[in-house]
Amino acid sequence: MTDSLLDNRTEPITATDDEIRAAVEGAHQSSFLPALLPALAHATGDDSILVESLRPDGTMIRDESAGLTPKQAADIRQITVETLIEVRDGVRIFVDEATKSEIDTEQLRRLMSFATGEPIDADYVPLMREELSVTGDDLRAPQWRAEELAPGRSFPVAIIGAGMSGILAGHRLRQAGVDFVIYEKNHDVGGTWLENTYPGCRVDVSNHVYSYSFAQRNDWPYYFSPQPELLDYFRTCADEFGIREHIRFGHAVTAMTWSEDADVWILEIDGPEGESTTEFNAVISAVGQLNRPNMPTIDGMDDFGGPSFHSAQWDHDVDLDGKNVVVIGAGASAVQFVPHVAERATHLSVLQRTPNWFVPVPTYHESVADGLQWLFRHVPGYAQWYRFWLFWRSSEGLLPACEVDDGWDDLSLSTGAANAELRALLEQWLYLCYADRPDLHDTVRPMYPPASKRIVLDNGSWSTALKRDDVTLDGSPIARIEADAVVTADAEGHETRHAADVIIYATGFQASKFLTPMHVVGSGGRDLHEVWNGDARAYLGVVHPGFPNFFLCYGPNTNIVVNGSIIYFSECEVHYALGVIEMLLRNGRTAADCRQDVHDAYNERVDAGNLKMVWGVSTVNSWYKAESGRVAQNWPFSLLEYWQQTRTPDPTDYHFG
Ligand code: NAP
Repeated sequence: MTDSLLDNRTEPITATDDEIRAAVEGAHQSSFLPALLPALAHATGDDSILVESLRPDGTMIRDESAGLTPKQAADIRQITVETLIEVRDGVRIFVDEATKSEIDTEQLRRLMSFATGEPIDADYVPLMREELSVTGDDLRAPQWRAEELAPGRSFPVAIIGAGMSGILAGHRLRQAGVDFVIYEKNHDVGGTWLENTYPGCRVDVSNHVYSYSFAQRNDWPYYFSPQPELLDYFRTCADEFGIREHIRFGHAVTAMTWSEDADVWILEIDGPEGESTTEFNAVISAVGQLNRPNMPTIDGMDDFGGPSFHSAQWDHDVDLDGKNVVVIGAGASAVQFVPHVAERATHLSVLQRTPNWFVPVPTYHESVADGLQWLFRHVPGYAQWYRFWLFWRSSEGLLPACEVDDGWDDLSLSTGAANAELRALLEQWLYLCYADRPDLHDTVRPMYPPASKRIVLDNGSWSTALKRDDVTLDGSPIARIEADAVVTADAEGHETRHAADVIIYATGFQASKFLTPMHVVGSGGRDLHEVWNGDARAYLGVVHPGFPNFFLCYGPNTNIVVNGSIIYFSECEVHYALGVIEMLLRNGRTAADCRQDVHDAYNERVDAGNLKMVWGVSTVNSWYKAESGRVAQNWPFSLLEYWQQTRTPDPTDYHFG
């Protein structure tokens, strides 16, 4: 065994019967069960393991029990124990990787349907096969090499940013044999996971899903790991993919201009050695999107006498012990760090503009149970099946709860029957959390439909912190900041003075200002920011007419609200970008410029789609919308549809140079 985080080889079973039983019993919660029998059937090649009466209830896939009765759960455990003992004793064998990867589509579909308890549409199988990557195969790797398509042709590509998407783009270009350089403004890789170091920072998508499909990590220490684990993962990926030597750290791309004469991008780069200019045939922007802090403008904020900082630029030199701390903002970041700050401050005031909806996730801070880790280490492919199950559970099934029902008159609190049902469910959790503090109910109860803003994961730590004697939650608007306080004023004009030695701004990011502060000038000298005019759009979120050979990762309308992980989208986006580069190399062309009509028709459809979703019609303020009120962030359709649309670029969508 190597020490690599990405080494997922399983170990032979040498445990005693009792140890195996203890591991399976100790695998914690029932959510690990649905994927277990399909994983065993796949690993052994024996379908008789799929006992029909132990199929989970597909309608209860999001329930902790997955619809399995205690008796069914016990039977699944028993079959698992017996199977693993037989494998240990040589009565059964785990088939080799090659045999496992040869599994045909129908068989895969059967196993998937068993795990989810519902029929899986045939269209999903190829997508899920990629996501599953059960033998560690990289099914999304480019199937072409630059030197074969265009021998001797130089086609250097610049990637901007070495976070999750930049590492991925570098990896894919390297696999395709395309020259590339990654410019990264920071001193290391990791992007958001490097920059956000606030206490309590952790991923809020299940970790076994929040990883590259082709570089899964089986032994995540937590179901939702803390930031250092994520950073470690991306550092390991950069090292093992062999792309670190391609990265110019401390280099920021400040401007890029398309040369119509030469069909190249001219990049202006600011680095330790000063400013320089370099030409590239194509550019992939992987600058992230939630990384430019949004600082509010509040009267008197410059007069504040103590230290203040934004959550994404946490100042670890500021000692919070024994201080009066004021946190402005109550979004996803604040929810993660407030419980930690409350432990240290003498008094903490949380100034909330809009309350969040929270979804209860009891395992949010829990480490992965030993028994589950044991299964990941000893059952080949089980971690991948577990990932599949998590992925499926959090994918399309949640979208109906975000839809706007025709004829649903009052959209202020819910937008349809399923959304109202979700609201009722989340309200139950809210009232449970604050049952002992009815005085807080009005302040914590969202008066907008759930999923208009991001729903925040919760294990009760947020409400526990807010209910402390030394913590004040204030939902009134901020009137001003003074040298040693932040003052709020309620609707009647009554002021509350929150003593402040330190102010922490948890006020989010300039999400709609895609690509800022970079200056991007395309064909005809058109400035991309002027074209967008504060309302960014792109075709598939990746390309824009008039800006040939320029590809965006996490571009406009590629964010998801309740389903999937952003890594999934990045993999699709990079796959698409590589597909366009392949077309250029294969056909000896120098420029691919997306057609305006294709771009416009696509965006019309996306806009119409978003207007049928809760985040499109709700009037609550959210970073999903641009200043114009248009949803510039979210993808309103299924994950499958995005995957299908980014599979293979259609040459008729482009003008070629
Ligand atoms: P956010 O969700 O946008 O929250 C910003 C908070 O600041 C909101 O409560 C907002 O109020 C408030 N605010 C903004 N301007 C204000 C002003 N002028 N006066 C008073 N309050 C103001 O930002 P975030 O918490 O940093 O999270 C942003 C996104 O990053 C999340 O939605 C999530 O996608 C991602 N994120 C993920 C994780 C994770 O995975 N672990 C952690 C953190 C963040 P309003 O609600 O009224 O606008």
